Amino acid sequence: AGKTIGVDVGGTKIAAGVVDASGRVLSKVRYPSAGPPETLLANVLRAVREARRGHEDVLGLCLSVPGTVVTERSAVAFSPNLPTIEGIPLKERLEGEIGLPMTVENDANAAAWGEFRFGVGRSARHLVFVTLGTGIGAGIIVDGRLLRGAQGAGGELGHTTVQAEGGPRCACGNAGCFEALASGTAIGRFGGEAAAERPESALGRLAARRRIRGEDVTELAGTGDPVARSVLARAGRWLGVGLANAINTFNPEVVAVGGGAAASGEMLLAPAREEIARRAISPARDLARVMAATLGPDSGLIGAAALAIDPASGEPFLG
Ligand code: BGC
Ligand code: ZN
Repeated sequence: AGKTIGVDVGGTKIAAGVVDASGRVLSKVRYPSAGPPETLLANVLRAVREARRGHEDVLGLCLSVPGTVVTERSAVAFSPNLPTIEGIPLKERLEGEIGLPMTVENDANAAAWGEFRFGVGRSARHLVFVTLGTGIGAGIIVDGRLLRGAQGAGGELGHTTVQAEGGPRCACGNAGCFEALASGTAIGRFGGEAAAERPESALGRLAARRRIRGEDVTELAGTGDPVARSVLARAGRWLGVGLANAINTFNPEVVAVGGGAAASGEMLLAPAREEIARRAISPARDLARVMAATLGPDSGLIGAAALAIDPASGEPFLG
């Protein structure tokens, strides 16, 4: 089996890379994803062209995108965190220009596939993966297959409701979504609330200068700051609520947590596990191992590349 290209389009950047059949990244370039649709498409083309240099033998490409991918159109129907990408006929606009067979996949599905093939889920057949960033993306693997649903829009755990009353607004327009309570964005918002309550704390002093981001909380918590740690514990408990629902639904062997916020490790995962112990039921609760993802920021790129071509048939691979 040969090399393929993974392209990971995120809220702020596009990463493209050539990956070999064992999941090794052979080249990687980045471009911003900001700007109007035509800029986004031009940057994807540039990124692919540069990543491909010296690797003329690549077999195909998969574009991973934040939002619900409608299988037949190979376009994104709804993207709460990158609305510019909505409705662009991605396959139509890019495949011919690039000159490689191309598939389009949800970003978290691609990252889940990467972790399943090469990362923390290598020995599992049933995997729930969530990525905590601007939003919460999820990829669910059932008996070795990626769950897509009837339209390709399945597995959107981020927009399942976990706080039905009085929950915070979500980017999707609803309130109380899992994403609004446990994403990096939610951690930033909880950090801002803690700062307002405790103006003398490190978070409080930072908030006097600028808006608190999720990364600020993670960084301060890493230095042992107790207020920042309690903010992570709060988000971690909500993470556990959302994951308990997924554990009860899918009975996975492994629950992998990735994305920027996963850098907080046990500060986030330990309270999540406590909540899972309380809310998920036996025996699923006892089987599921909740772990940090291991491929880091390349999981989406690696997973997308692995979803480009089926090594057996040479055709675009649909997981
Ligand atoms: C979107 C998902 C996406 C996730 C991470 C969510 O808001 O609905 O499709 O996977 O963000 O980018
Ligand atoms: Zn939502």
